[in-house]
Amino acid sequence: MIYCCKEHVELALDVVVDEHEVAPELKEFTQENELLITCEYCNNPAIYMVAN
Ligand SMILES: [Zn+2]
Repeated sequence: MIYCCKEHVELALDVVVDEHEVAPELKEFTQENELLITCEYCNNPAIYMVAN
């Protein structure tokens, strides 16, 4: 499972496809608590969750 921002969503999708050779599942989510989940590739708040 990869959390990523809008900018890195395509990168995250590519990584999942490369590693698992399956079509990834992309979910958009909103963060409502103060414990922000940050993007795997930068320090922006994550908007998407990519699951295989
Ligand atoms: Zn990012």
